[in-house]
Amino acid sequence: MATWPFGGVVETAERVGRGEVSAEEVARASLSAIEAENGELGAYVAVAGEAMLREARELDRRRARGEALGPLAGVPVGIKDALCTRGLPTTCASRVLGAGTARPWSPPYDATVVARLRAAGALVAGKCNMDEFAMGSSTETGAYGPARHPLDRARTAGGSSGGSAVSVAAAMTPAALGSDTGGSIRQPASFTGVVGVKPTYGRVSRYGLVAFASSLDQVGPFASDVRGAARVLGAIAGHDALDSTSLDAPVDDYEAACGRGVEGLRVGVPEEYFPAELAAEVAGPVRAALASLERAGARLCPIKLPFTRHAVAAYYIIAPAEASSNLARFDGVRYGLREPGRDLASLYGATRARGFGLEVRRRIMIGTYALSAGYYDAYYLKAQKVRTLIRRDFEAAFREVDLIAAPTAPTVAFRLGEKLDDPLTMYLNDVFTLPASLAGIAALSVPAGRAGGEAPLPVGLQLMAPPLGEATLFRAAGACEAAARAVAS
Ligand code: GLN
Repeated sequence: MATWPFGGVVETAERVGRGEVSAEEVARASLSAIEAENGELGAYVAVAGEAMLREARELDRRRARGEALGPLAGVPVGIKDALCTRGLPTTCASRVLGAGTARPWSPPYDATVVARLRAAGALVAGKCNMDEFAMGSSTETGAYGPARHPLDRARTAGGSSGGSAVSVAAAMTPAALGSDTGGSIRQPASFTGVVGVKPTYGRVSRYGLVAFASSLDQVGPFASDVRGAARVLGAIAGHDALDSTSLDAPVDDYEAACGRGVEGLRVGVPEEYFPAELAAEVAGPVRAALASLERAGARLCPIKLPFTRHAVAAYYIIAPAEASSNLARFDGVRYGLREPGRDLASLYGATRARGFGLEVRRRIMIGTYALSAGYYDAYYLKAQKVRTLIRRDFEAAFREVDLIAAPTAPTVAFRLGEKLDDPLTMYLNDVFTLPASLAGIAALSVPAGRAGGEAPLPVGLQLMAPPLGEATLFRAAGACEAAARAVAS
């Protein structure tokens, strides 16, 4: 696979900061990588182009004047199309927001995370492909068509933040932002062999993230290495008065944590994440990564998370319920697409029928049903109770261990089309990522190696930590990466 010519995020920023390479050169390298490969890979749905070059030249002028450029100086970053960007369209890969039309919705403001990236010196490379409104696990449900796996174009790159993952895996940018509601950062990171972080719920501002399921959504970074992910997370994390669920807690030094090692850390290994039927091509690399943590000084402890098996059922009630409410705003009056109607009701109906794709309509129907009088107690309330039990599973486990390690996904990247017509099978692919989302805890996926026959595909190790335990995640992810590099060299 292609590699980013300037090292990782950290090296790129340092080289630009020292003036060894200009931000403009870096921006041009990113744009030409996108130009060369995007037609085949479908990572970007809008490219910043000239606007990015202008930002880069401005950065170069500031450096020439002796100004400090920030921790992400000249680092091109791909932005999931669910995040608002000033001057670039934001469509969530949905026709309802004008995806694929001459007039895609263009918000007049930046999401807080985008504003923070820019303030840190990063360059917005463009908007990354996704499943429509982030509903999916394969980047196939959106209006732009699929994002493809850089190692095998007949396969998915995962989803819903598949475009962001491909941008990093195919070295179009050294970092990208995605959003994770039930696994949408971790699973594509696992499939494409990059690092992906779902922060603690509330650690990163959701202001300017188009809402899918508000009690679950979190923004987080993808990067080609662990330190790069730590640096990007450090830049976007922290309290934001514009998001009332944002946590007012200090941001740890994630980068320093990456090199701190795992001596004495207790790592829980939950039996529910290693069922007998787990594919050997996933279990092998994950077990090898666990062994590398043990060699680095961590203590592996078998644990139980008994409510894990109810996570898929609970999530696929709660997330659609919240989505059915959040998506009510797309009515043909306020945003994007408008289909004419005889009266207001038929305008709403026609706009929503034409504007939303199949999966989004399925979620709206499930969610509306689960919230309706008579079914609320049986489905929504029950799912909320199960969510509490899942959170308590983790609380109990974290009294015994510092960290939990498991596979990120039950399979390697599957074939495009393989699960698209069978929603239940698609939903089951999320089995290992949904519990951490429902519990609101911190989790990430770090490459654990590759497995499979002639064309091996990446496998991710998922690490989970208590709320605001991101620094612990980076300690363990850093140790895994160091062990893998030692083997490779
Ligand atoms: N695959 C899950 C879903 O379809 C999670 C998506 C996400 O995290 N945005 O809802």
